[in-house]
Amino acid sequence: MTRTFLVGGNWKMNGSVKSIESLTGALNASDIVEGTEVVIGAPAVYIPLLAEKLRKDWGVAGENCHDEDSGAYTGEISAEMLKDVGAKWVILGHSERRNIFGESDEFVAKKTKKALSVGLKVILCCGELLEEREAGATQQVVERQLKAVIDILPNEKDWENIVIAYEPVWAIGTGKVATPEQAQEVHKDIRAFLSRLISAGAAENTRIIYGGSVNEKNCAEIGRKPDVDGFLVGGASLKPSFADICNAMK
Ligand code: PEP
Repeated sequence: MTRTFLVGGNWKMNGSVKSIESLTGALNASDIVEGTEVVIGAPAVYIPLLAEKLRKDWGVAGENCHDEDSGAYTGEISAEMLKDVGAKWVILGHSERRNIFGESDEFVAKKTKKALSVGLKVILCCGELLEEREAGATQQVVERQLKAVIDILPNEKDWENIVIAYEPVWAIGTGKVATPEQAQEVHKDIRAFLSRLISAGAAENTRIIYGGSVNEKNCAEIGRKPDVDGFLVGGASLKPSFADICNAMK
């Protein structure tokens, strides 16, 4: 099975009705190479607007959800609610959720299970801090983060709707992109880990995308690496030139 290239945008806490109308207008009008899947993650309040305005061949994602269905969790949003207002995907375990909001590996795993159970696809983020890379612990950290999910979703079938985003934290929003070789090395290790813990099929079929200061200039070189199946793009997804990143493999 060949893995479909996937480019995700992550708007984080950015955007307005006006900017979304203008950006979707530009993106909808752009020519995108066939065979690349595109998903845009937006703040939850803008999901209905984005789902309405965005070209229908692109997916809309929430940027987080809770692992419970409903209840006394003031300010939280359930996976079912995201789906109800038009999301087909959710980004989980982003480093900003882990490091600013203190989300544990286990909590991210529970959210992943819940999101899949309601029919959402998941972009599951993992990645090491700078000090962890410098201490030679990259593989260990990424494997720990992924193992928590594999522990409660151990079957190959569970991974059909999960895309792993490897996002070294030191590269997110810093302009300091990983080299194509650094990305390839970690992606290859992740694939080997999936093979050991789940199956050869999960390793072969699961898409592993890279995130961290990807832009229209550096994307093609990273995207050519054999274990890089796309990108998760933060800052550069807020501009019409995001279309050029979607066309990285043209
Ligand atoms: C992200 O937020 O997932 C991200 C990769 O951000 P940036 O592209 O801005 O580094």
